[in-house]
Amino acid sequence: MDCRLIFALLAAALFTGCSSSKTEDKTGRLNIVVTTGMIEDAVKNVVGDSVQVTALMGPGVDPHLYKATQGDLKKLTQADLIFYNGLHLEGKMGEVLEKLGRVKPVIAVAEGIDNSLLRIVPEFNDSADPHIWFDVSLWKEAVKTILSGITELDGKNNGYYNANAENYLVQLDSLHRWVKSQILTIPEQQRTLITAHDAFGYFGEAYHIDVRGLQGISTLSEYGLRDVSDLVNYITKNKIKAVFVETSVSEKAINAVVQGCRDKGFEVQIGGNLYSDAMGESNTPEGTYLGMVRTNVNTIVNALK
Ligand SMILES: [Zn+2]
Repeated sequence: MDCRLIFALLAAALFTGCSSSKTEDKTGRLNIVVTTGMIEDAVKNVVGDSVQVTALMGPGVDPHLYKATQGDLKKLTQADLIFYNGLHLEGKMGEVLEKLGRVKPVIAVAEGIDNSLLRIVPEFNDSADPHIWFDVSLWKEAVKTILSGITELDGKNNGYYNANAENYLVQLDSLHRWVKSQILTIPEQQRTLITAHDAFGYFGEAYHIDVRGLQGISTLSEYGLRDVSDLVNYITKNKIKAVFVETSVSEKAINAVVQGCRDKGFEVQIGGNLYSDAMGESNTPEGTYLGMVRTNVNTIVNALK
């Protein structure tokens, strides 16, 4: 979309935004708009059906490259509350979110996480790795930030939201323990996770698996022949059984690695599709955060064991 058009729309939205209060829908429900499916799922686990929740980015959508459409701007300006990931995950939406933040609550779900728990990445301008949902214990902090954002806006339903969140946090605790135990079943010398882009850093740290990506933290970064050959050397030397593709990233990069290994006489398998920066279709197990994590872990364990 033309930049001038975005600013004209935003200016109009901000102007009307100042004069309106909560824009409850016909049933009187609050209207929350979020960026990713992971955040949508977390919010829904806190609010149940009592609030309207809309995600801008669906299955297979890459948040690093995503630009707000005209329809998105309309949804964002009509929202009572906006949640986004933050830490520059939504790299192309920063300005839009910042402007909206002047007239309504716009909350980064990552903002409550203690800085010492974030991975600082030199190749990502010394910024923190935004892929916090890969460590379930960090994602719990995001859920707590979501809970406090909602209760601040809608304090009268505080008890309901608190009970829902508490219940969900217990499920996340048990998921965290399950992932740990599953990764431990992979023989130690095979405990390397190779993917197209560097999304799994927190996963590696939390669950003790070595992680290597061909592209950097953001899919915006390019990979070169040198990166491919380094990874090919690593795989052939360590006889890594499988590499993984990601549902929101082109397969081209990882296919170059597989071909490179083949040229050196080593067959590395594609271990399967991992949900990295977007969840699966709604109404499938991978369409929820809990299901997405379980599916990824099963895929990783089955291919590397
Ligand atoms: Zn990513």
